[in-house]
Amino acid sequence: MPERFPASLQQKIEDRLRYYEDLGIRLFYTDRGPGGTTIVAPEPIASVSSSAPIIEETVLPKPTTKPAPAKVAPVAPPPLVVHPTGPSLFETMGKVKDETLLNIREDLGDCTRCKLHKGRNKIVFGDGNPKAELVFVGEGPGADEDAQGLPFVGRAGKLLTQMIEAMGLQRKDVYICNVVKCRPPENRAPEPDEVTACSPFLIRQIDSIHPKVIVCLGATAAKTILNTTRGISQFRGEWLEWRGHKLMATYHPAYLLRNPPAKADVWKDLQKVMAELGLQLPKKSKS
Ligand code: SF4
Repeated sequence: MPERFPASLQQKIEDRLRYYEDLGIRLFYTDRGPGGTTIVAPEPIASVSSSAPIIEETVLPKPTTKPAPAKVAPVAPPPLVVHPTGPSLFETMGKVKDETLLNIREDLGDCTRCKLHKGRNKIVFGDGNPKAELVFVGEGPGADEDAQGLPFVGRAGKLLTQMIEAMGLQRKDVYICNVVKCRPPENRAPEPDEVTACSPFLIRQIDSIHPKVIVCLGATAAKTILNTTRGISQFRGEWLEWRGHKLMATYHPAYLLRNPPAKADVWKDLQKVMAELGLQLPKKSKS
């Protein structure tokens, strides 16, 4: 019988594996060097600066009233950097003009285009403003979303809502959707055939909304859309261009729930998005 790890060590290993999973790393291999066996992750992980300010859920800036459009944030937007490693999966897909989200939802129907339909309760098409300037794209529905048919409604969704409100917006101001619209079993990452079947609907949604900015939440969404094998830590927070839209990838709210210090990085990313959209930075409250 193999010897069990002490409970504390086992917990640490589980936490670390979840951390890797949030960065899109699901495969590990062993390096049998002369010094013994070492578990090696296939790509480097960015460290989080201990000096960065930590934004806790409780200290996220309070939502402000909708900012006046004339006042542009003092932070200059960073230069546009085209960074993906290769052509996007969707580069060859032409734009369909004058489609509405309703048309696209009707076309999706009671979809059975991939095997994910077998385990779903509800299709999670997307939610929000059909003319939003800002679109958030996640990986796929979880249990809460599958039950309600709405994206980002669980704990991670609550945190995303707080992040949106910290930007001075409300959920109804933005649009939120996922790469795949049915819940993968046991919350695994969507498989390539599932992404291939479902993602044309995501593209049509984005083309219909025509946002100024797209924010990819988490490694899977970012790597799928950009068709890159790079770890999200290598391009998180950078401006990219995708099908004529400015796109930024940042960490998934579920990852932030497990790693609160990373909220500081995400808040920096969202401030860049606010500057791009001409939103005012929240005023610091007087202590
Ligand atoms: S994930 Fe997308 S393509 Fe697959 S069954 Fe659901 S809606 Fe259809």
